[in-house]
Amino acid sequence: MISEKHIPTIETASPSEGVPAVRHSDQYTWEGVDIHPYKETGTHFKSIHRQTIFKGGDDLSVEFRYFEIAPGGHSTLERHQHTHLVMIIQGSGHVLVGDKVTEIGMHDVVRVGPLTWHQFRATKGEKLGFLCVVSTDRDKPQRPGPSEVEELNETPEVAEFIRV
Ligand code: MN
Repeated sequence: MISEKHIPTIETASPSEGVPAVRHSDQYTWEGVDIHPYKETGTHFKSIHRQTIFKGGDDLSVEFRYFEIAPGGHSTLERHQHTHLVMIIQGSGHVLVGDKVTEIGMHDVVRVGPLTWHQFRATKGEKLGFLCVVSTDRDKPQRPGPSEVEELNETPEVAEFIRV
């Protein structure tokens, strides 16, 4: 799946690391970019993987990642101080941001602000693939404890949506 022919031996290909472009190689994969599990451990997510297209560097302190959730899968329900900027580039689904559940599809843009609960789900029988920009310098995600789940469950639409 991963061609090495145009890419120097670096951990992750990046336009700033000796190549002018990271070439798209196949359906939502990029040359020299490895496919990783979404997170190293845990069961609070389902059927999701991650590729880091740009790891941050030079004078640009952001990571540019692609996440893909298989039909029926979901990301972790979490919040953190750092912001996400997301663009859907494959399929569709729903996202929780704060106390709102929104349908999302191709080229929609989602911003998740500081300390805002969020979760992405591939709810529509197809994959949900999105690009996500984050700061390289960022805090660790927090997951909801029992009292926070209770609070989230006060909004019926949220209670029905979340996967903890
Ligand atoms: Mn997050």
